[in-house]
Amino acid sequence: MPIIASNFKTNHTRKSTAIFVNEVNDYLKEKNILSEVYVFPTATSLDIFDTVSNFIIGTQNAYATASGSFTGEIGTVQLDEFEIKTILIGHSERRHILGETQNVIAQKYEFYKNLGYKIIYCIGEPLEIKQKGIKSTLEYIYEQFIGIDINYENLILAYEPVWAIGTGVSATNNDIENVHNAIKEKINKPLLYGGSVKSENVREISQIPNVDGVLIGTASWKVEEFIKIIENTK
Ligand code: PGA
Repeated sequence: MPIIASNFKTNHTRKSTAIFVNEVNDYLKEKNILSEVYVFPTATSLDIFDTVSNFIIGTQNAYATASGSFTGEIGTVQLDEFEIKTILIGHSERRHILGETQNVIAQKYEFYKNLGYKIIYCIGEPLEIKQKGIKSTLEYIYEQFIGIDINYENLILAYEPVWAIGTGVSATNNDIENVHNAIKEKINKPLLYGGSVKSENVREISQIPNVDGVLIGTASWKVEEFIKIIENTK
């Protein structure tokens, strides 16, 4: 059963999120889609999903705390209010733009793991590492597992090469297959690919061996396109 996840990043309002979510929900109810679908809206829209029954809503981020003095962050007191039990951790934008270190990420992982959250844990190399070859790429990726319990039962991995995120240039099927095979050999968990996935390339990508689904940013923000992606994922 493929896994399909939409990461809204800093896009959509509460109003447009509600429309999106209802349309996807109706679509999934109507068709007999076997995929496991996730949507990660902004934190300001986490509370409007009472009517959602056919897919799972997760948070793009939260701090490793229940509550406290962490300006700008949310914790489990806020997440519990909306029954959110799924979190994205280690996304490249949090690592590279917002400066989260492996240490911070590992603490967050441990905290949410201990609470039984489903964790989509993202890994992936920047362009300068990719250019050095597959050995460097894998070494870089393995460092992103420092402090991460890879045996956690509610873990889903997402391989997202940094240079393919939001660029329109997806990794080649060959690149994806090589990295996925290597990761799967070490870690037997569902493994998604992310990085410029869209309705035109999702069928091919989702059929690559050891690709268990996709994590999508840009192309998933328009509901028609997201529905097409769900349709085309095999
Ligand atoms: P993209 O983003 O689909 O826009 O490349 C993917 C992601 O960041 O999860």
